[in-house]
Amino acid sequence: ERREVGPQDHAIDPKLVDDRAMDVVRTLQDAGYEAYIVGGAVRDLLVGLRPKDFDVATDATPEQVKSLFRRAFIIGRRFRIVHVIYGRGREHEVIEVSTFRAHLDSSLAEQVGGNERTSKSELAGMKHAVDASGRVLRDNVWGPMEEDAARRDFTINAMYYDPETQIVVDYHHGIRDAKKKIIRMIGDPATRYREDPVRIIRAVRFSAKLSALGFKFEDKTAAPLKSMKGLLADVPQSRLFDEMLKLLQTGHSLASIAQLKFLGLNTGIYPLLDVVVDTAEEPFLQLALLDTDRRVGEGKPVAPSFLLSCVLWADVRQGWEQRRQRGEHVMPALQDAIDDAFNAKIGDVSGRGKLGTDMREIWTMQPRFEKRTGSSPYSLLDQPRFRAGFDFLRLRAQTGEIEMELSEWWEKFSTAYDDERHEMIEQAR
Ligand code: ATP
Ligand code: MG
Repeated sequence: ERREVGPQDHAIDPKLVDDRAMDVVRTLQDAGYEAYIVGGAVRDLLVGLRPKDFDVATDATPEQVKSLFRRAFIIGRRFRIVHVIYGRGREHEVIEVSTFRAHLDSSLAEQVGGNERTSKSELAGMKHAVDASGRVLRDNVWGPMEEDAARRDFTINAMYYDPETQIVVDYHHGIRDAKKKIIRMIGDPATRYREDPVRIIRAVRFSAKLSALGFKFEDKTAAPLKSMKGLLADVPQSRLFDEMLKLLQTGHSLASIAQLKFLGLNTGIYPLLDVVVDTAEEPFLQLALLDTDRRVGEGKPVAPSFLLSCVLWADVRQGWEQRRQRGEHVMPALQDAIDDAFNAKIGDVSGRGKLGTDMREIWTMQPRFEKRTGSSPYSLLDQPRFRAGFDFLRLRAQTGEIEMELSEWWEKFSTAYDDERHEMIEQAR
């Protein structure tokens, strides 16, 4: 049932709506299409938070969307969506535009091909394409808006906001649930977790994020979480890895860990997440997570490589020490300890080139901070990843692993003028 809720019945502050998202919606509407802000952004707006990114849903196809914007790219193979880009360089912003989608039977999905818009009547009566365990295999075919709403996960994530008219379109009582502060799965929760087990992790993420505002799970939504955890074994590692990162980067990492424990999900979701849950109370990681939450809260970026180098540091550090005690030299011992940690804890995902390279760089910078003579400090400072390496060094100092003096020296050195730097190096001899 479609409900339209006007501004008298919701408290969305139009000032929290991003100008670029407004522009995308207006451009699509002016071209005769339906267009709304959708999903997490509407949820955040409704509870008074400034959304960190905006998604737009429309009845225009990706090609039609692309043709309306100067800088727009069709991305994704399974779900083709359009990235509309505003601004340049580090300041650029991406508005993700997706075409209303429906679940489809896999044989029909082949026929329709996902290129043409499918009419309502074509879609009527179609079953979701599911495998023997109930997992959704394909849902890349366009469909009517109400099906787009029904394929979403939680009621508060399934609303559409038209910033022009300020009307919220709500099919699943998202507004009511937002007011009552309830996290509720659309449809039968157990079925929906089976369709896509990643929703189990998403449930944890949203409850951690919204618990500070007083949100609670509906009983039926929380009940299957623990017993269905095993289904995550069938999810591709790369998706689990991405979801784990989201769990740690939403600005509520400590709440997420608490929520995992509370729900009985402390182990077995993903190997690296087990490490996080296990060691979150150790001073180094705890400080790193606190710091991460603070940064996200301030709207600053958090590099996954930094976060993960913190998560695996206890492992790396221990291996490094053991190897040195056995007589290995500082650098090779560290490199070998890093290899060991990658092999033991990251497995497949360590092949994700750049991330692994960046983590390794943060770690291998650490012994280099000890050298405060000659030209070494200058060349370290010139490293593109110096800042991350230094932030890492500071965490080590703050938790008593190394002398505070070393971290303070680098703080000063990195911000000093050339002549001061020269003097600092002279004195450090
Ligand atoms: P965040 O603010 O953390 O980005 P979000 O709700 O925007 O949260 P996204 O992962 O960005 O989460 O997804 C956008 C929207 O797409 C969701 O709000 C939801 O409606 C839908 N969605 C995403 N993943 C799933 C899924 N696995 N199952 C069903 N719906 C999903
Ligand atoms: Mg989002």
